[in-house]
Amino acid sequence: MAIVLLILSSIALSSNAFFVNHQSSRVRLYGSTRLFDTENAQEASLTPLGPPSGITTSDHKKNALPDYGKTPIEVDKIRLEERSRASEAWRRHDLFGSSIINQTLEDLEVDVDFQDTQKRINTIGLEGMSKEERTQRRRALDNLGIPPFAKFLRQQQQVMPKRKPPKVLQINIGLYCNQACSHCHVESSPLRTEEVMTAETAARCLELLKNNPSITTLDITGGAPELNPHFRYLVRMARSLRPDLEIIDRCNLTVLQEPGQEDLVKFLKENKVHVIASLPCYSAENVNTQRGNGVFERSIAALIALNDAGYSKDPNLRLDLVYNPLGAFLPPPQGKLETQYKERLADNFGILFDQLFTITNMPIKRFADFLHRRGELEEYMELLVRNFNPDTVPQLMCLDTVSVSWDGRIYDCDFNQQLGYAVGVDSIHRGGKTVFDIESLDDLMNLPIRTDNHCFGCTAGMGSSCQGATAQEEE
Ligand code: SF4
Ligand code: SF4
Repeated sequence: MAIVLLILSSIALSSNAFFVNHQSSRVRLYGSTRLFDTENAQEASLTPLGPPSGITTSDHKKNALPDYGKTPIEVDKIRLEERSRASEAWRRHDLFGSSIINQTLEDLEVDVDFQDTQKRINTIGLEGMSKEERTQRRRALDNLGIPPFAKFLRQQQQVMPKRKPPKVLQINIGLYCNQACSHCHVESSPLRTEEVMTAETAARCLELLKNNPSITTLDITGGAPELNPHFRYLVRMARSLRPDLEIIDRCNLTVLQEPGQEDLVKFLKENKVHVIASLPCYSAENVNTQRGNGVFERSIAALIALNDAGYSKDPNLRLDLVYNPLGAFLPPPQGKLETQYKERLADNFGILFDQLFTITNMPIKRFADFLHRRGELEEYMELLVRNFNPDTVPQLMCLDTVSVSWDGRIYDCDFNQQLGYAVGVDSIHRGGKTVFDIESLDDLMNLPIRTDNHCFGCTAGMGSSCQGATAQEEE
């Protein structure tokens, strides 16, 4: 599973109550006073957003994050009526061994946005699309009189912190996925059959893991990483090399039911793999809208299977969920939403989980494309900048993460990876270092982190990372 972001054009057509809610959020979000005035851009951009002297960080947050906390935690307005069905009706053993791929492919054939994007990929290629996207983000900020991210930080009297010894090795082992979510920032689908990490590259990642005792977490992502033929080798070897290592599987849940994966829950349990799974809502309609038809009931059945195996019951078997907004708004407060999720999932399905991570939709790939088509990229960029939170800067995940792509190239984060911003080069072209060029991850310590305007997605509101919000929330 990739770390997530986006909305579908079909959401726009939906008449469900959530959409009404989303619309009303947007009115509030964009109805507030603009921080940046294009005509007086220079003056506006010179005003630091940090707390003026004498004002506490807490007061500052209330004043300076005008949209944070306004996204209601009622992320569904479709009350689930089937409380009495509880978990038994959702314990769907019959789904295990049946693939969702044909359904995904059928959905893609009638998805106008997806088809348009495919045509553009065929015409200008993925790199061409990344360049185009970069220009669109830059243009959106220019129109608002907002400087590039690095200059903006300086104007806010912030400095981009230096790299720390890496703690997290995040490996994207392939873009093949049984789903094709509308928000996917890695453009995964069952059609991405070429981009698969080889056994040789996986083995090299393991060597780096062995050479770097500072790494405490191996974070395996994709696509659906479990569908890479070397996934289990990677997990087994990592576990035997480092018994104390936290191994994360970013799991889309429906993969547990794919043919050949019927024993996956057992495998994950045996290797004490920490499962982080995406569930953008606890309502069927919202999940299916974002992630594809049939995904909700399969996800619920998968969560029940994980609970049945001991996940979220045994302290060694951690199960976390990821929420990302269904549209162009900030996530609600993580702690409050977690409480809401826990209540709803327990009441309606008997499901337990440990923690909820809220992740902001990054203005890249399918989401950026969607916003651009609707003429909303500028508004979304403004929302992110308007809610810049200086407390998030020292917590950016790129400070102690190394991200490796399926072909072994090294990046600062999964987002830079998808944009082709490799470590060790100063253009947007692919290049830079691969896992075969370095002896140790420490070799990267003196290389600068490559930031750009998509980084405003990591610093808005309470911040965003693969582990959710990064700044301390107000009680
Ligand atoms: S398409 Fe696959 S990789 Fe992308 S967000 Fe959906 S489940 Fe994750
Ligand atoms: S998007 Fe930018 S700020 Fe966020 S983790 Fe990546 S490099 Fe760091």
